[in-house]
Amino acid sequence: MKLYTINTGYFKLDGGAMFGVVPKSIWNKLNPADENNLCTWAMRCLLIEVDDKRILIDTGIGDKQDVKFFSHYYLHGNETIGSSLAELSLTKDDITDVFLTHLHFDHCGGAILREGEKLVPAFKNATYWSNQQHWKWATEPNEREKASFLKENILPIKESGQLQFVDVKEGISIFNKEITVKFVYGHTDAMMLPTIQYKGKTVVYVADLFPSVAHLPLPYIMSYDMFPLKTLQERKSFLQEAFENDYVLFFEHDPASECCTLQTTEKGVRVKDTFKLKDL
Ligand SMILES: [Zn+2]
Repeated sequence: MKLYTINTGYFKLDGGAMFGVVPKSIWNKLNPADENNLCTWAMRCLLIEVDDKRILIDTGIGDKQDVKFFSHYYLHGNETIGSSLAELSLTKDDITDVFLTHLHFDHCGGAILREGEKLVPAFKNATYWSNQQHWKWATEPNEREKASFLKENILPIKESGQLQFVDVKEGISIFNKEITVKFVYGHTDAMMLPTIQYKGKTVVYVADLFPSVAHLPLPYIMSYDMFPLKTLQERKSFLQEAFENDYVLFFEHDPASECCTLQTTEKGVRVKDTFKLKDL
């Protein structure tokens, strides 16, 4: 098995919303805001090459919405899914599976692209993976979360006939016995965290459970989370398990660090080392 980081560029989100109850005087030192109170975040995907499969975890924000939509997110950076795959001498057509942790636009926007009038799968040879529980949640959204679930990112996946569901069963294996899924319910319903046995370590794609290294302290929970106390509980038990088993956390949104290991301090579980996936 081989893992590769697939960078798809950066965007900006309100720092206050990203750090929830944490005051700006504290979070601004961790990820300094611009004059509009916006901080930079990565949209970092992961490619797994295993057996004859090339599995892409999440897809970034994509490019199908209008100028007004993107004006809120200040996309920057030179890398795209296409350019990151090209560095590995791959194209989108080489991807066999697209695994979507959840259907918020910054995770699944790149799954579908606009071709003339039509919305079509960006990965035409891939099976797209979600789960039925999250799919229902995303396609019948509540008013608070609705702005994150954009129909044009989601419905064409089903219409393409390329959608399949993972069973919502904690620790279920997918693709290969070395890849399993953890399910968490606080950020949104039934978000999936791929957990991969790699080079003698357990690598967890932590998606929006821990958007960045700065979010490791327990109360650093995003305002976007639907059930923050559920997130708190999930973070607490995950961090303990991750520390005890020396997991490597892979961050989707950290603007600088791809991966980290953990240690305990008198304040709780905290970052030990940060490094690039290729240096694991
Ligand atoms: Zn999310």
